[in-house]
Amino acid sequence: MTNPTPQEARSQIVGLIREFVQRDVEPVVARYDKEDIYPSELVDRMAEMGLFGITIPESYGGLGLDYTTFAMVFEELSKGWMSLTGPIGSHHMMAYIVATFGTEDQKRNLLPRMATGEVRGGLAMTESEAGSDVQNIQMTATKDGDEYVLNGSKMFITNAENGSAFVVIVKTDRDAHPPHRGMSCLIVEKPLEGLSVGRHLDKLGYRGLDTSELLFENCRVPAGNLVGEVEGRGFQQVMGGLEGGRINIAARAVGVATAAFEAAISYAQKRKAFGKPIAHHQAIQLKLADMATKIRAARLLTYDAAAKKDTGERADLEAGMAKLFASEVCGEVTLEAMRIHGGYGYVKEYTVERYYRDAPLMIIGEGTNEIQRLVIARRLLEEYAL
Ligand SMILES: Cc1cc2nc3c(=O)[nH]c(=O)nc-3n(C[C@H](O)[C@H](O)[C@H](O)COP(=O)(O)OP(=O)(O)OC[C@H]3O[C@@H](n4cnc5c(N)ncnc54)[C@H](O)[C@@H]3O)c2cc1C
Repeated sequence: MTNPTPQEARSQIVGLIREFVQRDVEPVVARYDKEDIYPSELVDRMAEMGLFGITIPESYGGLGLDYTTFAMVFEELSKGWMSLTGPIGSHHMMAYIVATFGTEDQKRNLLPRMATGEVRGGLAMTESEAGSDVQNIQMTATKDGDEYVLNGSKMFITNAENGSAFVVIVKTDRDAHPPHRGMSCLIVEKPLEGLSVGRHLDKLGYRGLDTSELLFENCRVPAGNLVGEVEGRGFQQVMGGLEGGRINIAARAVGVATAAFEAAISYAQKRKAFGKPIAHHQAIQLKLADMATKIRAARLLTYDAAAKKDTGERADLEAGMAKLFASEVCGEVTLEAMRIHGGYGYVKEYTVERYYRDAPLMIIGEGTNEIQRLVIARRLLEEYAL
Protein backbone atom coordinates (compact mmCIF):
# COMPACT_ATOMS: atom_id res chain seq x y z
CA MET A 1 0.00 0.00 0.00
CA THR A 2 1.30 3.48 -0.85
CA ASN A 3 1.52 6.17 1.79
CA PRO A 4 -1.26 8.78 1.62
CA THR A 5 -0.36 12.09 -0.04
CA PRO A 6 -0.35 15.14 2.29
CA GLN A 7 -3.78 16.12 0.89
CA GLU A 8 -5.18 12.62 1.55
CA ALA A 9 -3.72 12.57 5.07
CA ARG A 10 -5.22 16.01 5.65
CA SER A 11 -8.73 15.10 4.53
CA GLN A 12 -8.60 11.82 6.49
CA ILE A 13 -7.71 13.53 9.73
CA VAL A 14 -10.17 16.39 9.22
CA GLY A 15 -12.91 13.84 8.43
CA LEU A 16 -12.08 11.88 11.60
CA ILE A 17 -12.31 15.02 13.70
CA ARG A 18 -15.62 16.03 12.14
CA GLU A 19 -17.07 12.63 13.07
CA PHE A 20 -15.58 12.85 16.56
CA VAL A 21 -17.10 16.30 17.10
CA GLN A 22 -20.56 15.23 15.91
CA ARG A 23 -20.62 11.92 17.75
CA ASP A 24 -18.78 12.63 21.02
CA VAL A 25 -18.58 16.38 21.53
CA GLU A 26 -21.91 17.90 20.47
CA PRO A 27 -24.01 15.83 22.91
CA VAL A 28 -22.00 16.94 25.98
CA VAL A 29 -20.63 20.37 25.20
CA ALA A 30 -23.46 22.45 26.72
CA ARG A 31 -23.21 20.68 30.08
CA TYR A 32 -19.42 20.68 30.19
CA ASP A 33 -19.35 24.37 29.32
CA LYS A 34 -22.01 25.27 31.90
CA GLU A 35 -20.50 23.20 34.70
CA ASP A 36 -16.87 23.98 33.76
CA ILE A 37 -16.02 20.27 33.51
CA TYR A 38 -12.60 19.25 32.16
CA PRO A 39 -13.33 16.89 29.23
CA SER A 40 -10.86 14.13 30.23
CA GLU A 41 -12.37 11.38 28.09
CA LEU A 42 -12.56 13.64 25.00
CA VAL A 43 -8.94 14.68 25.48
CA ASP A 44 -7.94 11.00 25.80
CA ARG A 45 -9.75 10.32 22.50
CA MET A 46 -7.79 13.16 20.92
CA ALA A 47 -4.57 11.55 22.16
CA GLU A 48 -5.65 8.23 20.58
CA MET A 49 -6.24 10.07 17.28
CA GLY A 50 -2.63 11.30 17.43
CA LEU A 51 -3.55 14.96 17.90
CA PHE A 52 -0.88 15.50 20.56
CA GLY A 53 1.71 14.67 17.92
CA ILE A 54 0.34 16.39 14.80
CA THR A 55 3.34 18.62 14.19
CA ILE A 56 5.96 16.57 16.07
CA PRO A 57 8.38 15.08 13.51
CA GLU A 58 7.78 11.42 12.60
CA SER A 59 11.35 10.62 13.67
CA TYR A 60 10.26 11.44 17.24
CA GLY A 61 6.99 9.51 17.08
CA GLY A 62 4.67 12.30 15.87
CA LEU A 63 2.53 12.56 12.74
CA GLY A 64 4.80 15.25 11.28
CA LEU A 65 1.89 16.95 9.51
CA ASP A 66 2.15 20.43 8.06
CA TYR A 67 0.78 23.66 9.55
CA THR A 68 -2.06 23.83 7.06
CA THR A 69 -3.37 20.52 8.39
CA PHE A 70 -2.70 21.75 11.91
CA ALA A 71 -4.86 24.84 11.20
CA MET A 72 -7.66 22.72 9.70
CA VAL A 73 -7.65 20.46 12.77
CA PHE A 74 -7.95 23.46 15.10
CA GLU A 75 -10.72 24.92 12.96
CA GLU A 76 -12.73 21.69 12.98
CA LEU A 77 -12.38 21.15 16.75
CA SER A 78 -13.37 24.77 17.40
CA LYS A 79 -16.54 24.40 15.36
CA GLY A 80 -17.56 21.85 17.98
CA TRP A 81 -16.04 23.33 21.12
CA MET A 82 -13.12 25.76 21.16
CA SER A 83 -12.02 24.54 24.62
CA LEU A 84 -10.91 21.24 23.06
CA THR A 85 -8.07 23.02 21.31
CA GLY A 86 -6.64 24.16 24.68
CA PRO A 87 -4.98 20.88 25.72
CA ILE A 88 -3.16 20.61 22.38
CA GLY A 89 -2.53 24.31 21.60
CA SER A 90 0.17 25.25 24.08
CA HIS A 91 1.32 21.59 24.09
CA HIS A 92 2.33 22.16 20.46
CA MET A 93 4.09 25.41 21.28
CA MET A 94 6.14 23.57 23.88
CA ALA A 95 6.84 20.73 21.42
CA TYR A 96 7.90 23.26 18.78
CA ILE A 97 10.32 24.97 21.17
CA VAL A 98 11.86 21.62 22.19
CA ALA A 99 12.00 20.32 18.59
CA THR A 100 13.46 23.54 17.20
CA PHE A 101 15.78 24.75 19.93
CA GLY A 102 16.29 21.74 22.23
CA THR A 103 19.33 19.49 22.42
CA GLU A 104 19.15 15.97 20.96
CA ASP A 105 18.81 14.55 24.49
CA GLN A 106 15.91 16.89 25.26
CA LYS A 107 14.15 15.92 22.03
CA ARG A 108 14.61 12.19 22.60
CA ASN A 109 13.48 12.44 26.18
CA LEU A 110 10.36 14.51 25.61
CA LEU A 111 9.03 14.45 22.06
CA PRO A 112 8.04 10.76 21.79
CA ARG A 113 6.15 11.01 25.09
CA MET A 114 4.55 14.28 24.02
CA ALA A 115 3.50 12.78 20.68
CA THR A 116 1.44 10.05 22.36
CA GLY A 117 -0.05 12.44 24.91
CA GLU A 118 1.63 10.61 27.79
CA VAL A 119 3.25 13.97 28.52
CA ARG A 120 0.85 16.89 28.09
CA GLY A 121 2.61 20.19 27.83
CA GLY A 122 2.14 23.90 28.23
CA LEU A 123 3.97 27.19 27.95
CA ALA A 124 4.37 29.33 31.06
CA MET A 125 5.27 32.87 30.20
CA THR A 126 2.73 35.32 31.65
CA GLU A 127 3.00 36.58 35.23
CA SER A 128 0.54 38.60 37.29
CA GLU A 129 2.50 41.81 36.52
CA ALA A 130 3.83 40.88 33.08
CA GLY A 131 1.62 39.82 30.18
CA SER A 132 2.20 41.91 27.06
CA ASP A 133 5.43 43.19 28.59
CA VAL A 134 7.14 39.79 28.62
CA GLN A 135 10.55 41.28 29.37
CA ASN A 136 9.22 42.46 32.73
CA ILE A 137 8.86 38.92 34.14
CA GLN A 138 10.21 38.50 37.65
CA MET A 139 10.53 34.73 37.94
CA THR A 140 14.14 33.65 38.34
CA ALA A 141 16.28 30.56 37.91
CA THR A 142 19.59 30.62 39.74
CA LYS A 143 22.36 28.23 38.85
CA ASP A 144 23.50 26.10 41.80
CA GLY A 145 26.07 23.49 40.80
CA ASP A 146 24.50 21.37 38.10
CA GLU A 147 20.97 22.51 38.92
CA TYR A 148 18.78 25.59 38.50
CA VAL A 149 16.67 26.78 41.42
CA LEU A 150 13.36 28.29 40.27
CA ASN A 151 11.40 30.89 42.25
CA GLY A 152 8.34 32.90 41.26
CA SER A 153 4.89 32.39 39.82
CA LYS A 154 3.12 32.26 36.47
CA MET A 155 -0.41 33.45 35.77
CA PHE A 156 -3.13 32.34 33.27
CA ILE A 157 -1.40 29.07 32.42
CA THR A 158 -3.38 26.81 30.13
CA ASN A 159 -3.12 23.14 31.16
CA ALA A 160 -1.57 24.10 34.54
CA GLU A 161 -3.68 21.48 36.32
CA ASN A 162 -3.99 18.77 33.68
CA GLY A 163 -0.66 19.26 31.95
CA SER A 164 2.43 17.43 33.14
CA ALA A 165 5.32 19.39 31.60
CA PHE A 166 5.97 23.03 30.79
CA VAL A 167 8.46 25.25 29.11
CA VAL A 168 8.86 28.07 31.63
CA ILE A 169 10.48 31.37 30.73
CA VAL A 170 12.56 32.83 33.53
CA LYS A 171 15.32 35.34 34.18
CA THR A 172 18.72 33.69 34.51
CA ASP A 173 20.38 37.13 34.55
CA ARG A 174 18.38 39.86 36.25
CA ASP A 175 20.85 42.61 35.30
CA ALA A 176 20.96 41.97 31.55
CA HIS A 177 20.29 44.89 29.19
CA PRO A 178 18.09 44.70 27.26
CA PRO A 179 16.30 42.36 29.69
CA HIS A 180 15.52 39.71 27.05
CA ARG A 181 19.24 38.86 26.94
CA GLY A 182 18.89 37.53 30.48
CA MET A 183 15.83 35.37 29.75
CA SER A 184 15.96 31.60 29.34
CA CYS A 185 13.57 28.68 28.88
CA LEU A 186 13.60 25.74 31.27
CA ILE A 187 11.72 22.47 30.98
CA VAL A 188 9.87 21.42 34.12
CA GLU A 189 8.05 18.17 34.58
CA LYS A 190 5.59 17.22 37.30
CA PRO A 191 5.84 16.02 39.97
CA LEU A 192 8.45 18.47 41.13
CA GLU A 193 9.10 19.42 44.71
CA GLY A 194 8.15 23.06 45.27
CA LEU A 195 5.90 23.26 42.18
CA SER A 196 2.20 23.67 42.91
CA VAL A 197 -0.91 24.81 41.08
CA GLY A 198 -2.50 27.99 42.42
CA ARG A 199 -5.93 29.44 41.72
CA HIS A 200 -8.19 27.84 39.10
CA LEU A 201 -9.57 30.84 37.16
CA ASP A 202 -13.33 30.99 36.60
CA LYS A 203 -13.64 32.25 33.01
CA LEU A 204 -16.31 33.87 30.81
CA GLY A 205 -15.67 31.39 28.00
CA TYR A 206 -13.11 28.72 27.11
CA ARG A 207 -14.81 26.81 29.90
CA GLY A 208 -13.94 23.29 30.99
CA LEU A 209 -10.30 23.91 30.23
CA ASP A 210 -8.00 24.69 33.15
CA THR A 211 -6.35 28.10 33.22
CA SER A 212 -4.51 28.52 36.51
CA GLU A 213 -1.50 29.84 38.34
CA LEU A 214 1.73 27.87 38.66
CA LEU A 215 3.76 28.52 41.80
CA PHE A 216 7.47 27.73 42.07
CA GLU A 217 9.20 27.74 45.43
CA ASN A 218 12.84 26.64 45.43
CA CYS A 219 12.16 24.12 42.65
CA ARG A 220 15.32 22.36 41.54
CA VAL A 221 15.72 21.11 37.99
CA PRO A 222 18.87 19.69 36.36
CA ALA A 223 20.92 22.22 34.36
CA GLY A 224 20.28 19.90 31.38
CA ASN A 225 16.66 21.14 31.39
CA LEU A 226 17.75 24.51 29.99
CA VAL A 227 16.35 24.53 26.44
CA GLY A 228 19.27 24.15 24.03
CA GLU A 229 21.56 24.31 27.07
CA VAL A 230 22.19 28.00 26.35
CA GLU A 231 21.19 30.88 28.59
CA GLY A 232 19.77 34.15 27.25
CA ARG A 233 17.88 32.72 24.27
CA GLY A 234 14.53 32.19 25.98
CA PHE A 235 12.82 35.26 24.53
CA GLN A 236 13.66 34.31 20.91
CA GLN A 237 12.70 30.67 21.58
CA VAL A 238 9.28 31.67 22.92
CA MET A 239 8.69 34.16 20.09
CA GLY A 240 9.42 31.33 17.61
CA GLY A 241 6.80 29.20 19.36
CA LEU A 242 4.28 32.03 19.25
CA GLU A 243 4.21 32.01 15.42
CA GLY A 244 2.57 28.57 15.49
CA GLY A 245 0.51 29.69 18.48
CA ARG A 246 -0.92 32.60 16.50
CA ILE A 247 -1.82 30.35 13.58
CA ASN A 248 -3.64 28.07 16.01
CA ILE A 249 -5.54 31.02 17.51
CA ALA A 250 -6.48 32.27 14.03
CA ALA A 251 -7.74 28.79 13.11
CA ARG A 252 -9.79 28.57 16.30
CA ALA A 253 -11.33 31.94 15.47
CA VAL A 254 -12.25 30.75 11.96
CA GLY A 255 -13.82 27.62 13.47
CA VAL A 256 -15.93 29.47 16.05
CA ALA A 257 -16.97 32.12 13.50
CA THR A 258 -17.99 29.41 11.02
CA ALA A 259 -20.07 27.60 13.63
CA ALA A 260 -21.79 30.91 14.53
CA PHE A 261 -22.44 31.70 10.87
CA GLU A 262 -23.88 28.23 10.18
CA ALA A 263 -26.17 28.53 13.19
CA ALA A 264 -27.30 31.97 12.01
CA ILE A 265 -27.99 31.07 8.37
CA SER A 266 -29.97 28.05 9.46
CA TYR A 267 -31.99 29.99 12.06
CA ALA A 268 -32.66 32.83 9.60
CA GLN A 269 -34.42 30.43 7.24
CA LYS A 270 -36.65 29.02 10.01
CA ARG A 271 -37.56 32.08 12.05
CA LYS A 272 -40.45 34.08 10.64
CA ALA A 273 -41.17 37.77 11.19
CA PHE A 274 -43.63 39.99 9.30
CA GLY A 275 -44.99 36.97 7.44
CA LYS A 276 -41.76 35.55 6.02
CA PRO A 277 -38.50 33.92 7.12
CA ILE A 278 -36.13 36.62 8.40
CA ALA A 279 -33.60 35.40 5.79
CA HIS A 280 -35.89 37.03 3.20
CA HIS A 281 -35.45 40.44 4.81
CA GLN A 282 -32.65 42.30 3.12
CA ALA A 283 -31.14 43.59 6.38
CA ILE A 284 -30.50 39.98 7.45
CA GLN A 285 -29.13 39.04 4.00
CA LEU A 286 -26.60 41.87 4.22
CA LYS A 287 -25.39 40.53 7.56
CA LEU A 288 -25.09 36.98 6.20
CA ALA A 289 -23.14 38.16 3.18
CA ASP A 290 -20.71 40.20 5.28
CA MET A 291 -20.24 37.40 7.79
CA ALA A 292 -19.45 34.76 5.15
CA THR A 293 -17.13 37.09 3.24
CA LYS A 294 -15.14 38.01 6.34
CA ILE A 295 -14.85 34.38 7.44
CA ARG A 296 -13.57 33.38 4.03
CA ALA A 297 -10.95 36.13 4.12
CA ALA A 298 -9.94 35.08 7.65
CA ARG A 299 -9.60 31.44 6.61
CA LEU A 300 -7.45 32.36 3.60
CA LEU A 301 -5.18 34.55 5.74
CA THR A 302 -4.84 31.66 8.21
CA TYR A 303 -3.93 29.13 5.51
CA ASP A 304 -1.54 31.68 4.00
CA ALA A 305 0.27 32.03 7.36
CA ALA A 306 0.32 28.24 7.76
CA ALA A 307 1.79 27.80 4.27
CA LYS A 308 4.49 30.38 5.06
CA LYS A 309 5.32 28.59 8.32
CA ASP A 310 5.59 25.32 6.35
CA THR A 311 8.36 26.82 4.21
CA GLY A 312 10.47 27.12 7.38
CA GLU A 313 10.86 30.86 6.82
CA ARG A 314 10.05 33.52 9.39
CA ALA A 315 6.23 33.82 9.51
CA ASP A 316 5.59 36.33 12.29
CA LEU A 317 4.07 38.92 9.94
CA GLU A 318 1.66 36.48 8.31
CA ALA A 319 0.78 34.76 11.60
CA GLY A 320 0.21 38.12 13.29
CA MET A 321 -2.05 39.34 10.48
CA ALA A 322 -4.04 36.10 10.47
CA LYS A 323 -4.48 36.15 14.26
CA LEU A 324 -5.47 39.83 14.30
CA PHE A 325 -7.95 39.62 11.44
CA ALA A 326 -9.51 36.24 12.24
CA SER A 327 -10.05 37.03 15.92
CA GLU A 328 -11.67 40.40 15.18
CA VAL A 329 -13.88 38.72 12.57
CA CYS A 330 -14.80 36.07 15.11
CA GLY A 331 -15.83 38.77 17.61
CA GLU A 332 -17.97 40.54 14.99
CA VAL A 333 -19.54 37.41 13.51
CA THR A 334 -20.50 35.88 16.85
CA LEU A 335 -22.25 39.13 17.82
CA GLU A 336 -24.03 39.27 14.45
CA ALA A 337 -25.10 35.64 14.85
CA MET A 338 -26.58 36.53 18.23
CA ARG A 339 -28.43 39.50 16.72
CA ILE A 340 -29.87 37.28 14.00
CA HIS A 341 -31.15 34.96 16.74
CA GLY A 342 -32.82 37.92 18.50
CA GLY A 343 -33.69 37.19 22.14
CA TYR A 344 -33.06 33.48 21.66
CA GLY A 345 -29.41 34.23 20.88
CA TYR A 346 -29.00 35.54 24.40
CA VAL A 347 -30.07 32.36 26.17
CA LYS A 348 -28.07 29.21 26.75
CA GLU A 349 -30.49 27.01 24.83
CA TYR A 350 -28.83 28.20 21.61
CA THR A 351 -25.15 27.66 20.85
CA VAL A 352 -24.50 31.22 19.65
CA GLU A 353 -24.42 32.40 23.26
CA ARG A 354 -21.36 30.15 23.84
CA TYR A 355 -19.65 31.22 20.62
CA TYR A 356 -20.04 34.85 21.69
CA ARG A 357 -18.44 34.11 25.09
CA ASP A 358 -15.59 32.11 23.51
CA ALA A 359 -14.65 34.75 20.91
CA PRO A 360 -12.81 37.31 23.12
CA LEU A 361 -10.13 34.82 24.14
CA MET A 362 -8.84 34.87 20.57
CA ILE A 363 -8.60 38.69 20.75
CA ILE A 364 -6.62 38.58 24.01
CA GLY A 365 -4.64 35.31 23.96
CA GLU A 366 -1.24 34.72 22.32
CA GLY A 367 -0.60 38.47 22.42
CA THR A 368 -3.48 40.94 22.49
CA ASN A 369 -4.57 42.46 19.20
CA GLU A 370 -3.07 45.81 20.24
CA ILE A 371 0.31 44.08 20.58
CA GLN A 372 -0.36 42.18 17.36
CA ARG A 373 -0.72 45.47 15.49
CA LEU A 374 2.57 46.68 16.96
CA VAL A 375 4.32 43.48 15.82
CA ILE A 376 2.85 43.84 12.33
CA ALA A 377 3.81 47.52 12.10
CA ARG A 378 7.36 46.81 13.28
CA ARG A 379 7.80 44.16 10.61
CA LEU A 380 6.32 46.43 7.92
CA LEU A 381 8.67 49.24 8.87
CA GLU A 382 11.59 46.82 8.56
CA GLU A 383 10.40 45.65 5.19
CA TYR A 384 9.67 49.12 3.83
CA ALA A 385 12.57 50.92 5.55
CA LEU A 386 13.77 53.90 3.51
C1 LIG B 1 -7.83 32.01 28.99
C2 LIG B 1 -6.41 32.45 28.91
C3 LIG B 1 -5.40 31.52 28.70
C4 LIG B 1 -4.05 31.91 28.68
N1 LIG B 1 -3.07 30.97 28.54
C5 LIG B 1 -1.77 31.34 28.68
C6 LIG B 1 -0.73 30.35 28.71
O1 LIG B 1 -0.96 29.15 28.55
N2 LIG B 1 0.55 30.76 28.91
C7 LIG B 1 0.87 32.08 29.10
O2 LIG B 1 2.04 32.37 29.29
N3 LIG B 1 -0.10 33.04 29.07
C8 LIG B 1 -1.40 32.70 28.88
N4 LIG B 1 -2.39 33.67 28.87
C9 LIG B 1 -2.02 35.05 29.10
C10 LIG B 1 -2.20 35.97 27.89
O3 LIG B 1 -1.23 35.69 26.94
C11 LIG B 1 -2.16 37.41 28.43
O4 LIG B 1 -3.35 37.62 29.17
C12 LIG B 1 -2.04 38.43 27.33
O5 LIG B 1 -0.78 38.35 26.73
C13 LIG B 1 -2.25 39.86 27.86
O6 LIG B 1 -1.49 40.10 28.99
P1 LIG B 1 -2.17 40.77 30.28
O7 LIG B 1 -3.37 39.98 30.59
O8 LIG B 1 -1.15 40.91 31.34
O9 LIG B 1 -2.62 42.20 29.80
P2 LIG B 1 -1.72 43.53 29.79
O10 LIG B 1 -0.40 43.27 29.19
O11 LIG B 1 -1.76 44.11 31.16
O12 LIG B 1 -2.55 44.45 28.81
C14 LIG B 1 -3.71 45.20 29.24
C15 LIG B 1 -4.17 46.04 28.06
O13 LIG B 1 -3.13 46.98 27.69
C16 LIG B 1 -2.80 46.82 26.33
N5 LIG B 1 -1.38 47.10 26.13
C17 LIG B 1 -0.32 46.60 26.84
N6 LIG B 1 0.83 47.09 26.33
C18 LIG B 1 0.51 47.90 25.30
C19 LIG B 1 1.26 48.68 24.37
N7 LIG B 1 2.60 48.70 24.39
N8 LIG B 1 0.58 49.39 23.44
C20 LIG B 1 -0.77 49.35 23.37
N9 LIG B 1 -1.53 48.62 24.22
C21 LIG B 1 -0.90 47.89 25.17
C22 LIG B 1 -3.16 45.38 26.00
O14 LIG B 1 -3.35 45.18 24.62
C23 LIG B 1 -4.43 45.22 26.79
O15 LIG B 1 -5.50 45.80 26.07
C24 LIG B 1 -3.73 33.30 28.84
C25 LIG B 1 -4.76 34.24 29.02
C26 LIG B 1 -6.07 33.84 29.06
C27 LIG B 1 -7.15 34.86 29.29
